[in-house]
Amino acid sequence: MVNQKESEMHELEAAEKLSVTVLGSGTSQGVPVIGMEYPGEYLANPKNIRTRPSVYIESDLTSILIDTTPELRIQCLREKIRKVDAVFVTHAHADHIMGMDDCRRFCNHETGEALPIYASKSTFKQLKRVFAYAFRLKDIPLGYFKPEARVVSEPFRFRDLEVEPVWLPHGKTTCTGFLFKCGPKRIVAYLTDCKEVPSEALDQVRGVDVLILDALRFREHPTHLCLDEALTAARRIGARETYFTHLTHDYDHDIHQAELPAGVYLAWDGLKIHAG
Ligand SMILES: [Zn+2]
Repeated sequence: MVNQKESEMHELEAAEKLSVTVLGSGTSQGVPVIGMEYPGEYLANPKNIRTRPSVYIESDLTSILIDTTPELRIQCLREKIRKVDAVFVTHAHADHIMGMDDCRRFCNHETGEALPIYASKSTFKQLKRVFAYAFRLKDIPLGYFKPEARVVSEPFRFRDLEVEPVWLPHGKTTCTGFLFKCGPKRIVAYLTDCKEVPSEALDQVRGVDVLILDALRFREHPTHLCLDEALTAARRIGARETYFTHLTHDYDHDIHQAELPAGVYLAWDGLKIHAG
């Protein structure tokens, strides 16, 4: 169901400039990890405090969330987010979806209009199980989370956003990366949770203006890019700016940032990036 406003906005040119706010830059457990001790200097740097991975992307007209972490409420309060027009979901692992119920604040409390949720078919299979009360119920009262499932299988438009799914291997799961474009221009690619960037995906995102990429930790991992693998993928992609995310406590922000090549940065919670 495409409402009036949305169909009118489809007529618009795709947005050429986007701003990205990193809501969370941390791995599945966040940093610091519960029950672990850290040196005082490590915790004194706010860039080492990492909530679960998510970004907020805005054009002049449209605002979307990618993933809804267990810390979504805290992230939205911190960044003063008041408007979300749709949610894009990369995959249904707990660290990416468990805050979804807090999207009730972004549902229209006057009209009862549903909030569009974009995800792959396999991700929806899990979302509809975990949030059965929201996806299966017919009459959701005003004030509660009311989603509208929109299955992503090919490039799509949401209002003034032109979006391409980027399929990424992540263990037994296929993670959906999102590439935001304006015609031939590749503006932002958000590629989290992947063991590699396969050649098809490389072709899609090569030369993108801003790349946000999984770089879990220093040691290899069976389902995520480690730092070396992420650096190789970043070099092949050749973005103007690359930001690493989904980071463990291996990274001490200021120390490890200083060791990265030019144009490659560690993301941190609250970072704002201008793309396009
Ligand atoms: Zn995952």
